Amino acid sequence: MPTSVIALSVRVLAPLGRDLTYTHDGPVATGTRVRVPLGQRQVMGVVTGTLETPDNAAELKAIDEVIDSAPLLHAEHLAFLSWASDYYGVGLETLLQSALPKWGRQGRPFTPVTQAWRWNPEHPKPKGSVRQAIWQASQAPICVPALKSLGWTPARALIERGSLLPAEMPRQAAETPLSLNAEQARVIEQVTGAPKPWLLEGVTGSGKTEVYLQLAQPLVEAGQQVLVLVPEIGLTPQLVGRFERRFPGQVLHLHSALSDGLRWQGYGEMARNKKSILIGTRSALLTPLPDLGLIVVDEEHDGSYKQAESPRYHARDLAIVLGARRKVPVVLGSATPSLESIANREAGRFGACYLNQRARAAQPTAQALIDLRGLTLHEGLSDKALSAIRDTLERGEQALVFLNRRGFAPVLTCHSCGYHPECPSCDARPTVHREPKKLWCHHCDYQAPWPARCPSCDERLSILGQGTQRLEQTLELAMAPYPVTRIDRDTAGAGGAGKLLQLAQDGAPRVLVGTQMLAKGHDLPNLTCVVVVDSDAQLFSGDFRALERLGQTLVQVMGRAGRADRPGQVWVQTHQPDHPIWPRLMQGDYAALAQDELTMRKRGHLPPYGHMALWRARSAHAGVAMQHLHDLAAALKPHLNGVKLMGPTPAPMERRAGQYHAQLLLMGPRQALRQVLNTPIPATPRTLWRGLDIDPQDLF
Ligand code: ADP
Ligand code: ZN
Repeated sequence: MPTSVIALSVRVLAPLGRDLTYTHDGPVATGTRVRVPLGQRQVMGVVTGTLETPDNAAELKAIDEVIDSAPLLHAEHLAFLSWASDYYGVGLETLLQSALPKWGRQGRPFTPVTQAWRWNPEHPKPKGSVRQAIWQASQAPICVPALKSLGWTPARALIERGSLLPAEMPRQAAETPLSLNAEQARVIEQVTGAPKPWLLEGVTGSGKTEVYLQLAQPLVEAGQQVLVLVPEIGLTPQLVGRFERRFPGQVLHLHSALSDGLRWQGYGEMARNKKSILIGTRSALLTPLPDLGLIVVDEEHDGSYKQAESPRYHARDLAIVLGARRKVPVVLGSATPSLESIANREAGRFGACYLNQRARAAQPTAQALIDLRGLTLHEGLSDKALSAIRDTLERGEQALVFLNRRGFAPVLTCHSCGYHPECPSCDARPTVHREPKKLWCHHCDYQAPWPARCPSCDERLSILGQGTQRLEQTLELAMAPYPVTRIDRDTAGAGGAGKLLQLAQDGAPRVLVGTQMLAKGHDLPNLTCVVVVDSDAQLFSGDFRALERLGQTLVQVMGRAGRADRPGQVWVQTHQPDHPIWPRLMQGDYAALAQDELTMRKRGHLPPYGHMALWRARSAHAGVAMQHLHDLAAALKPHLNGVKLMGPTPAPMERRAGQYHAQLLLMGPRQALRQVLNTPIPATPRTLWRGLDIDPQDLF
């Protein structure tokens, strides 16, 4: 056995839940991707460390291939992923699978793409007209598309000969930073050099983005990297645009429309610090950033930071962990912070930054509640709301009508016999859709034709309730000739609401109808009237987070009214005018609403004062998931040590997509909860699926 044989621990991308040991005849750095034999197969893996060479080294299998000459994942990044894997109770390989782009998982090497070429001054002027044109054009760096337009075949030959050398395109001039107002300057001063989490609370338009940009500036100049997390990339084109103008050529924008190749290229560029700023949704957090200097989490309260399937991590929470490990500031920005972050601020764990003024002066908005009880409604809209919208349009301004329910209507029913269609695989009624005309279950994607008449008594069916499609139709008739634009998941498609909102940027009178996709994104300077059609269902939801979420959404939606020279108006329709949330919202007092909610949470030992872990199980047969969770509960019971065990119970919607769902909730102080979770438990039977959700956001 040659002495140079080295034993390495390798995490293979297969669900084994532990490292394996392989050998190699030389050192391999931690974080390097390798190909290793596993049974009869060959699989990709990542080196997680170097081991003392064991006595039986000769019996160990050797690595087949070292893929990266220098690792893309640095050791500290791997340690962070391990921490997350431990906290969320998922295998490191699962996080690595999520973190690596497809090409990376396939084991493709990373080769930086040359963006531009320049003539090698040591080479003489070539012969031939095309080559001479290339020679002429490449005296200064020429980008690849321009080179291709001159002739790619001769250009490639010149590259191979070394006549053209890789070069960088000169950077466009960066936009000049704005001069900060006093509040902004104070925030910069607070955060700079204080590597801890900061909750930056400031209304939309108060200049948070400008603060992010100016915090990033000195770091980028010093060669450090900045991670900017955003909830949904489709809704943040303005933010991305501003970063690109301020830091030309330095921004990588990770979004769903990127090809696999570009995604891998981007990952490698960040891992090698070829680019300084990474903007992306939650999974961007899993990208290795060797020279991280700052993390920004914009709209930190947004629910999309929690991944709804395995690995069920929360990107805001992990960003705080990452910031602490790397000793860099984490700025959590929001107009409506999560109760978790407010509680952390109150406990002194997060620093407090405020931006109270709008950077550009705006008139205050007038807010009014419309008590719908006893009023005649026109497809859900009161006369008051309709005339407010019409007046707005006639003044040459824009109105926004908010309803968080897509589709045409929630219910199709027979007025004479009570028949209503049901989803065959869920405990739910399919939503009525108009374009295209169908019944569509939003829980399992079941789709069926819309019956013209009642199948049991042949009466005409009635459509009850409103969705955005029906509202759009109603408003088109009522507001003609003014255009109506509907913005929801059905009209926006995968690209998000950006393009549709762009339409409204011209400021021409228009009605925007939509779901919470309307809450964020483009600044619409001519929008002066907001109508909230119906939020009553959320007032009495069984979910303990419902009021927090409703408050956040309504504050955001209502905040879209108002411009610099004319006051905005907000109309909120409700059948429940006495609910205690309304005075808070009507005064725009999110802070008071948050305090009300925090008091309730504290009383119930609910998050953020207690911690939760949720076991979920599902099975194709009724009762199987419940029975298994009963067994699980029995195993945990002797070890609870103050942790509360609730359930098992059938999930609020028990049958979903043909499966029966059940859940078991654990609640208590974090340390005690972690101990309970370390209790040995029965294995998952083949007949069901089981998963653990740490810090669950939704209890269904
Ligand atoms: P937020 O991110 O809080 O919504 P922005 O940073 O987008 O706020 O600022 C809102 C608007 O005010 C933008 O048009 C921005 O250019 C402008 N703005 C921000 N800070 C300043 C400043 N210091 N001076 C002038 N305009 C500013
Ligand atoms: Zn269904």
